Parts: sequence; structure tokens; C-alpha cells
Amino acid sequence: MAAARDILGRPVRDLRISITDRCNFRCPYCMPKEAFGPAHPFIAASRLMTGAELERIVRAFVGLGVEKVRLTGGEPLLRSDLSAIIRGIKAIGVPDVSLTTNGWFLAKQASQIRAAGLDRLNVSVDAIDEAIAGRMNGLGYRVARVLEGIDAAAQAGLRVKINCVVQNGVNDGEILPLCDYFRSRGHTLRFIEFMDVGNTNQWSLSQVVPAAEVVNRIAAKWPLEPVGPAYRGEVAARYRYTDGRGEIGIISSVTEPFCRDCNRARLSADGKLFTCLFASEGSDILGLLRSGSDDDALLKCVAGIWGARRDRYSDERAGILEAGAPRGKIEMSYIGG
Ligand code: SAM
Repeated sequence: MAAARDILGRPVRDLRISITDRCNFRCPYCMPKEAFGPAHPFIAASRLMTGAELERIVRAFVGLGVEKVRLTGGEPLLRSDLSAIIRGIKAIGVPDVSLTTNGWFLAKQASQIRAAGLDRLNVSVDAIDEAIAGRMNGLGYRVARVLEGIDAAAQAGLRVKINCVVQNGVNDGEILPLCDYFRSRGHTLRFIEFMDVGNTNQWSLSQVVPAAEVVNRIAAKWPLEPVGPAYRGEVAARYRYTDGRGEIGIISSVTEPFCRDCNRARLSADGKLFTCLFASEGSDILGLLRSGSDDDALLKCVAGIWGARRDRYSDERAGILEAGAPRGKIEMSYIGG
């Protein structure tokens, strides 16, 4: 089947898969502990996609043009069959298989996942200061252990990028210390604007530090120059330090949305397909598989969903928020960040 295009002409290139909705952190901007306590209805193990089911679904997406697969969650390092999942996806021939992790279990698992074929990974680090990092992960966990995990990943031969969600008045004072730390270690740091995903993180526009301000603050200390995108649809705007000490990226999905180039599909841990991070509903692909559909039917179903896609939430956000209509959005831990 030919590469798929949606109604706005966007191809599908990037598949993000939440392999578990569980996480060992309780970052207030993502899984606040008040909302994700012991009573939270996490997905039952029997309803999670198995490695074999994942492979069938990924193969269908590859048939439609997907070149990159990112495993996320929840916390993907919590899946005991993670290495087998990576191996299976690499065996399909996906050129770029990556992972997003909070890094807590990374030191232990880095060589294993590298040996399984993982190409690169993004580690979330919201602060270097232990007290602020502890507040950002909701449980007081030590960032030093995450930093050790990053070193282990680099030593294992994985390309590492760092993700930092910036929240005004919470960790924006960490922008420069983070740059300082990662500049000297050669890892690209990417700042992400705090987004209104899900319904539990008490998002407000006043907590968003606009991407342009992040760039200005960094450039005032270490001059920066823009770098063109490496490919169409790259989500981060890139800048390099003029002193040659690497790059930063900025993801401005609130102040400068990039829906027109969005080529990303997302699978929840229970196998529902979402064509937008801010969607309210997904299509039950795993249900289709478990009801006995063959690979051809699976491919046609996914092609049909992508072909009918017209969402562009971030472009329309201001109008939607102004209209004030209540709109249940899917939580990021479920759909995959
Ligand atoms: N547990 C893994 C981790 O911590 O990286 C993977 C899942 S997490 C949902 C993926 C990414 O989404 C992280 O980099 C996280 O910081 C980001 N994220 C979560 N909630 C966000 C929000 N409200 N706005 C912006 N980014 C967010």
C-alpha cells in the first residue's frame, strides 16, 4: 500500500507507543499523585498490548510510511519485556527506534536495551537542583541517580537527548544550570513548553514560559544561533551555541504550534490509536486484532483512520479555550508522551 496522507496532506512517519500507563514518578505536570493514587484505574495487564501484538501493529504502520518508533508511557523501563519489544521492532526494519524515560532504572538497563537494538533515547530531567527535581518528580527522588543513568546510556553507545518541561515559577530558574551541566557533557537539551494535556495537571497559560523567552535567557549567557530543521516535521526548533559547545532544542507547542507538519500517530498501552496528543477518543486497534482480523484488514483500518485525520488542536487551542466548552482529554501517561 502507498504511503498514507491525511486530509491536510500530512504523511505518517512517526509512531509513539505507550507500552505502559504506569510510572514510578508522580510529576505534578503529568501524573499528579492526587489524581494517580492507589485507586487510579490503571490498565490491567491482560489489556496491555503484548510484544507480538505490538509487532503486528508496527508492521502495518511501516507499510504506510512510518520510519520512526518511539516507546514511551508511563515509564517504559517498567516493562519487563522491554528488550524483547525493542528487538521485535528492530527486526521489522524500523530505521529509528527510540525511547523516552525518566531515567530512574536506566543505569541498570542501558546496555541491555542498547544490545536489543535501541538507537537513541530521551531522558526527562527538569532540574539539576535536588530539591527542585524532587518537587518536579512528585516523590522527592534524587536527580543524581538519573544523571548516573544518562552516563551509563552514553557509555553503552546510545545517543542521548534530555527533555525538560519548563514551568514558570517552579523550575524556570533551572534553565541555565541545566544548560551548563549538559553543554559540558555533549547532550542536546530540549526545553518543552508546559502543555495542557490531560485534565489533571491544573494547566494555566501563566505557567508556560514561552519558547522565545527560554532562548533569550540562554542566549544572554551563551550566545546562540538558529540551526535549520534536520527534516520536515521536526518538532524542536534548534539552536547551536556559537562557542561550539553543542545545541539546544525548543518545543513550542503552545506559543508556536506546528500542527501543519505533524506526522505523528500514537498508540495507547491498550492499543487505541490516536492521531493527536489532545484527542478525546481513539480507535481500538488492539480490539480489532484480538477479534481475529488479519494483517490486511489491520493495514486497511489504520490507513482509513489516518486518511480521515483532520485534527490540529494546538493551532485551534486559543479558540477552544476561549469557547470554554468542557472537553475530556486523554492523559499523557495513557496516550504516551
Ligand atoms: N516516563 C517517561 C518520562 O518521564 O520521560 C516517558 C513518559 S513522559 C509522559 C514523556 C515526556 O512527556 C516527558 O519528557 C515529560 O516531561 C513530558 N510531559 C509530560 N507532561 C507534560 C506536559 N504537561 N507538558 C509538556 N510535556 C509534558
